[in-house]
This record gives sequence, structure tokens and C-alpha cells, in this order.
Amino acid sequence: MIRLGLKPGREASVARHHPWLFSGALASRDGDGSDGHAEIVDFRGRALARGSYSPDSQIVARLWTFDGRLADASLFQERFRAARRLRQAVVPPDTTGFRAINSEGDLCPGVLLDNYGDTAVLELLTGGTERWESDLTDAAREVFSPPKIIVRRTGADRDGGSRPESRIQNPESKIEVVPFTENGLRFFADIPGGQKTGFFLDQRDNRIRLQALAAGRTVLNLFSYTGAFSVAALAGGAGRAVDVDSSEAALDLSRQHRRANGFPAEACDFVRADVFEDLRRRVEARESWGIVVCDPPAFARKRGDVPRAARGYKDINRLAMELVEPGGWLLTCSCSGQISPDLFQKIVFSASLDAGRSFSIVARQGAGADHPVSLDCPEGEYLKGLWLSRET
Ligand code: SAH
Repeated sequence: MIRLGLKPGREASVARHHPWLFSGALASRDGDGSDGHAEIVDFRGRALARGSYSPDSQIVARLWTFDGRLADASLFQERFRAARRLRQAVVPPDTTGFRAINSEGDLCPGVLLDNYGDTAVLELLTGGTERWESDLTDAAREVFSPPKIIVRRTGADRDGGSRPESRIQNPESKIEVVPFTENGLRFFADIPGGQKTGFFLDQRDNRIRLQALAAGRTVLNLFSYTGAFSVAALAGGAGRAVDVDSSEAALDLSRQHRRANGFPAEACDFVRADVFEDLRRRVEARESWGIVVCDPPAFARKRGDVPRAARGYKDINRLAMELVEPGGWLLTCSCSGQISPDLFQKIVFSASLDAGRSFSIVARQGAGADHPVSLDCPEGEYLKGLWLSRET
């Protein structure tokens, strides 16, 4: 255990139980942190918190307890049990794909557990939680009893460290894609090769709403990745759904998803293209769509990216708006934590002015209830989704 001493006047965020401790707040580091454990003390040496130590990260410690308790195997089990109880209450029927542990939102900073059918993916997001791999894996097995468990270690990557080869801990269990269900629809998670842990579980509630609105509509699904929005739309009776993505591997998975759910996979419904260019072409051709879904990757990863990201969101939303038929819908999303809900709405408003189209916000929908956000750590709320209806 290492002792991290705060500079005078830097206790406030710890006193408020914010789980992130930035290296700039530290005056001293004493002891050995190789077991991943840190104790945070104020400038007088009084213990304030305990958590995981990530020496290579700007967030040098993620705080797990504020009452002197060690973050050990029994604490992991306790927190995982609480997380499981929440999922039992909120995960919809016929759904075996869900987030079982959501890092800070489940008081387990630096730990994600995503469940896909018979496989659980434990993602260790920080150098510190990577050190606790064995106890965390045991606790996940004990509490969730998944038939298979795969560990992804992405902490060192994020911290700029150098162990990319250790991304997946047990390559002997090399699993290509894992089947699971969501509201009765069939999907596959591309666990080793995919983005996130293999699927965008956080968009489930938006898929449900799309399914409910899609009957008889045409759907243009931008940044489609696994094409899950399109499958939900077709299940809801959409006349046609077109996926646009720059990745052939993603479009391949989209085709598989359609077939697995009994829908045809016509070549013309899968467009490999840069979305910005594709949209310009469609606007020039005066296309018109019943529902456009725009869920791009995070354009802003750090604060300095915000102005450029804002321009990107504005461009893409302006073009997307021009394609929505009167009385149609745009679901527009941003998963950039750096772009606040308020800023995102302003960007979208300014896009509508440039597009010369009037839209109303009918619903705001971020991640589902299996992605809780701790009030202590509002940064956990990254996904913003606006359901906009165009005037008739
Ligand atoms: N909407 C998806 C998640 C999007 S992930 C879902 O619901 O699952 C981002 C996707 O955007 C990736 O599949 C990536 O290949 C694609 N992408 C990123 N930049 C792109 C661009 N400029 N043009 C087209 N696709 C892009």
C-alpha cells in the first residue's frame, strides 16, 4: 500500500467522495504501490480514503472507500452483489446482454462487467484495478456465476502504458463472437475485436424507442457499427433500414445480425463510406428518410478537442436534418463526456438553424438503468440522445 499525501487545501473533492484523485493534488508518495492499493491522507497525515493506485495515470487513484476499509475481496463481493440486485430489478425480459457493473456508478471505479449470454467480460480500466485482477475475477465468478469469463485489461493502454498484448488475459478461450439477446432480438458481441466490450449496450433504451416508432418508416442508420439500431427498426416494422459505416468488419456483423433475426441482408442496405461524405451525397440527391439515427464515435476525448468536436457534431447534424422528411425523426447522440448535455443541445439547435428546419425535442434518452451514474461522479453520464421530431 502506498500513502498518497495531499497538498494543503486539496481535500475538498475527497471530502465530497469524488472517486477520482488527480496527480496534481499530491504533495507526497510514500511506500510501495505495487499491490495497487493506495491510502489518501491529508497534509496532517489523517487518512481520508482508500482505493486503487495507477502511477502512470493523471487520475493517480480511484477511491473506493472513505471509512478506512480496505478494498479487498470481501468488499468486491459486497459491491458486486449490490450491482447484481440492481440488474435483477432493471434488466428487461429476454435480455442476456447488459452491463452488470458500471465502474463509479456501482462504486467500483475502474471496473466494468458486461454480460453477453453465457459470457461475462470483465474490463479493468485502470492500472490500479489491473493489479486486483485475481480478486476481482474471483468476486465476479462468485457473485454472477457466468459459465465463461474473459478479462480485458485496458488500463495500461489508457494510461499510455505499454502492454497492449495483455489486452485479453486468456487467449486460449479465444471466442470470436458471443450470442446474446436483447428484448428478444438476437445479437453477437465481438469481444476480442470489437469496440467497448463488443457491443453498445448503453443504447438499449434508444433501440426500444426506435422499434416503437419505426413501423412503415425508412431508417438511415449512420455510424451503424453492429447495425443494432437497424435490427430494432426492422423488428418494429420499418420498411427499410440502411447502415452506413466506414468499417467493413462492422458491416459484416450488421449483415449477420439481420439474418439472425430473420431479415434479409440486401447489399444496397450496407454502405461502406465516410458518413460526412455519404451525407453530402444524399443531401445533394435530395433524399428523404422517415427516421435518421446519428450515433457517432466520441468526437471529443479531451477538453482541447471540444471546439473541433462541436464543429463535427454541427456539420453532421445539419446534414442529417436535411434528410428527415416532414413529420419524421432524428435520433442524434453524443457519447463525448466533454460535451455537456447543454452544449450538445445548443450545437443541435445551431445545426437546425443552418439546415432551415424546425425540430422539437420529444425525448432525451441516455444510457439505460444498467448504467447507473453516481451523484459523487457525474462524469459517469456521458451518453446524450435527443429524439427530435420534424414539423409536418
Ligand atoms: N451507433 C453504433 C455505435 C457507433 S460506434 C451502435 O449503436 O452500435 C462508431 C462507429 O462509427 C464505428 O463502427 C466506426 O467504424 C464508425 N465510424 C467512425 N468514423 C466514421 C466515419 N467518419 N464514417 C463512417 N463511419 C465511421
